[in-house]
Amino acid sequence: MKEAVIFNIERFSTEDGPGIRTVVFMKGCPLKCVWCHNPEGQSFQREIFVFDKRCINCGDCAQVCPEKAIIVEDKTPKIDRDKCNSCGKCAEVCIPKAIEVVGKKMTPDEVLKEVEKDKVFYETSNGGVTLTGGEPISQIEFLEEFLKKCKEAGIHTAIETSGCTKWETYERILPYTDLVMYDLKEMNVEKSLKYVGIKPDLILENAEKMSRVKPMWIRVPVIPGYTANEDNIRKIAEFIAKKLPSVERIDLLPHHRLGEPKYKSLGRKYALDGVKPPDKEEMLKYKKIMESTGLKNVIIVGHEDKS
Ligand code: SF4
Ligand code: SF4
Repeated sequence: MKEAVIFNIERFSTEDGPGIRTVVFMKGCPLKCVWCHNPEGQSFQREIFVFDKRCINCGDCAQVCPEKAIIVEDKTPKIDRDKCNSCGKCAEVCIPKAIEVVGKKMTPDEVLKEVEKDKVFYETSNGGVTLTGGEPISQIEFLEEFLKKCKEAGIHTAIETSGCTKWETYERILPYTDLVMYDLKEMNVEKSLKYVGIKPDLILENAEKMSRVKPMWIRVPVIPGYTANEDNIRKIAEFIAKKLPSVERIDLLPHHRLGEPKYKSLGRKYALDGVKPPDKEEMLKYKKIMESTGLKNVIIVGHEDKS
């Protein structure tokens, strides 16, 4: 069965493609971006979230854990992540939901059933479904079948991808994909290796190929101290202007701090703890740099002033 591990299905999004969309978040990503805002999307496996503040110290989780991986001290459940096999038994008995399982195996038909609930909104807004993650292309068997079923059901399809896979893998989904939302993060080779986990070569090569066959939206994370500098933004803009003729829109995504508590819940350290989001002035500066290369439709996502 072509199942995938899904960690969220978000309805009524207006920032993940055209119109009103349902966004399906798939677990697993080959990259290791240090600023990742969805750390629960990095691993391909189910994981356990812990929310200390909800714990009532009942001790039930520790009692049911078959691996003896939990100790509860002062209303704080501590999980030994090396012993934990993510079976989820602790979450089942935790009434106040201080422990939750992230990730659920779903078939293409099960996800389609969820997505079809909002079909009327897609039709009135020219919306549809967007697959993101994690990196959806990493679960190609599920992705191919799911996108095919969406097209058979008359639903507009978009994927968000980091460009980090063999071109032949993309070719499998092109007939069923209407829009590709493509991440461009870091143009400097050393910084890309250090902060993203790979050189940008394959990402840029795939972007050029993609632009010959599909409409694209480009997404640029603007991360202070990392991607947010004039040189990087200008190089990304020049690359788009010269090499990607099918780009319809560029989204500048300012760093935000919503991911920070998720690292704590997963028992991990966040490299960007305390890094503040860029202010409106800085975002407008990057938008102008983009536009100075001739690019149009550069949007600062999540900021009120989109002028
Ligand atoms: S079952 Fe939930 S509430 Fe009870 S000790 Fe464990 S984490 Fe806390
Ligand atoms: S998920 Fe299973 S193994 Fe992990 S802590 Fe909970 S009960 Fe123990």
